[in-house]
Amino acid sequence: MVGSAIMRRLRESGYKDLMSRTPQELDLMRQSDVEAFFGRERPEYVFMAAAKVGGIWANSSSPADFIYDNLMIETNIIHSSHLNGVKKLLFLGSSCIYPKHCPQPMREEYLLSDYLESTNEPYAVAKIAGIKMCQSYNSQYGTDYISVMPTNLYGPGDNFDLKTSHVLPALIRKFHEAKIRGDQSVEVWGSGTPRREFLYVDDLADACVFLMKRYDRSDIINIGVGKDLTIRALAETIAKVVGFDGDLRFDATKPDGTLLKLLDVSRLDALGWRARTSLVEGIRRTYEWYLGRQ
Ligand code: GDP
Repeated sequence: MVGSAIMRRLRESGYKDLMSRTPQELDLMRQSDVEAFFGRERPEYVFMAAAKVGGIWANSSSPADFIYDNLMIETNIIHSSHLNGVKKLLFLGSSCIYPKHCPQPMREEYLLSDYLESTNEPYAVAKIAGIKMCQSYNSQYGTDYISVMPTNLYGPGDNFDLKTSHVLPALIRKFHEAKIRGDQSVEVWGSGTPRREFLYVDDLADACVFLMKRYDRSDIINIGVGKDLTIRALAETIAKVVGFDGDLRFDATKPDGTLLKLLDVSRLDALGWRARTSLVEGIRRTYEWYLGRQ
């Protein structure tokens, strides 16, 4: 989802000498394959969007896959970039690198100030390792590797698998299928009270291209919209866009995860970047994309 959005954004801006690889074409977990690719293709600028990502259920049930896959992808790409003289690399982290009880909104300097949320700790530790790799290569080798921390993302290309997806695509699918079947109610996991912030993936891509050109510090930088809402409010908004008018049933046996997760975006704001797509518009476009695949 993120890689495709960055490619769309670069093409729109007129960049021509672009290269990308699907997981079938290049297995980023194989060190020798990644080194051979970098040695052959010699990319100058690298957007590191590749990662194993997933929602609360996927993270809690496959912690080994989340830590192993992400560590392998990061070490292979970052080290190969260094060996092959990449001019600049942008590493995508995640808002779950911040502590479980982080003061809100979460500022960049709160990284590693307290312990992490347990439902996605292995994933978060892998992402923190990626940040520390970028910073270490910058300080030891003088490279220009930047780390950006996006909030929860959604949009075309999202994962709609009900077990492994994040909440927003999961609810689009649940409401759509309930509408078609004529169901009276839809199950929403947890209490509905946790708050989350959602960024449309094309806005994220725009911010990544902006920062690749404008940001060159080792300090991490947040990318978000600066506003959050409860899972209940999100569910009501999605139900309206999809046209489902039944009830919401909250399943308290499912985990809530962290209760608050709002990024402080003043650092990005000060550079002059702001998200453009409203939540309703973003959900509408994502639902259209989902319908196009049915
Ligand atoms: P998180 O942001 O890492 O916690 O990941 P998710 O996007 O998976 O979950 C966010 C919140 O939405 C959690 O409180 C979930 O319990 C809640 N949620 C409600 N319904 C669903 C659902 O159908 N799927 C998912 N993944 N989360 C849901």
